[in-house]
Amino acid sequence: MSVKITFLGTGDASNSGGRAQQALLLTTSNFTLLVDCGANTLQRLQKMQIDPNTIDAVLFTHFHADHFLGTVHLDLSLIFDFPRKRNLLYLGPVGLKERCQQLFSLSYPRLYPNDNFVREMVEYAPHQKYTILDNKAIVETFPMEHAPESLGYRISIGGKCIAITGDTQWHDGIVDLAKDSDCLICECFHYKKPQPRIGHCSYEEIHENSTRIDTKKIILLHAHREVLEHREKVDFTIANDGDILDIE
Ligand SMILES: [Zn+2]
Ligand SMILES: [Zn+2]
Repeated sequence: MSVKITFLGTGDASNSGGRAQQALLLTTSNFTLLVDCGANTLQRLQKMQIDPNTIDAVLFTHFHADHFLGTVHLDLSLIFDFPRKRNLLYLGPVGLKERCQQLFSLSYPRLYPNDNFVREMVEYAPHQKYTILDNKAIVETFPMEHAPESLGYRISIGGKCIAITGDTQWHDGIVDLAKDSDCLICECFHYKKPQPRIGHCSYEEIHENSTRIDTKKIILLHAHREVLEHREKVDFTIANDGDILDIE
């Protein structure tokens, strides 16, 4: 078994370096999971010629706009451009239902709510394990240190284990999240350790702790300018928009 990771968007909220806001697509032979949906995600899907209707579930790490705002565009496209015939799962931290309602009704008050297709919304609590669609994926939730609702996910999918931090400052919970995983996808907004910590990881902290991180591969994203300027000094892969990684 294997899983394909498509890096649709690898940037931060400011689109530093011209990178699209965060969105990752995890695909197996029978399941497609979108993790986060930034403002540019629908455009990125179309650029990569991926039909949004192939997505079975959307999983959010938190509700900041660069991870969540594009949900309304994705949802709207499933009404008009890629008419959806089946349910769509929206999964994310507690507050997901209210945030979706707020986003949809604020953006297009005459179109929402609607029942063009069924949106199943499931809210995830920290320190829990959830199964998606008859074990097509198993998701373990780890609290992250960023927004109050922020969750990191350890996703067992296609026989592999992918750990995704979402946005967070460095903390030891990242070591737990990554334990025994095939891949850690870690945010890396800063190059140097910020003093005081302000909600994002730095390359210095990830590098300093890398011997404690028990994973086969560390991939960084959500890089701000400073990281991109120092990229030749960074020991780990910095994902680019459009990168595809097969984990076999
Ligand atoms: Zn972000
Ligand atoms: Zn954030």
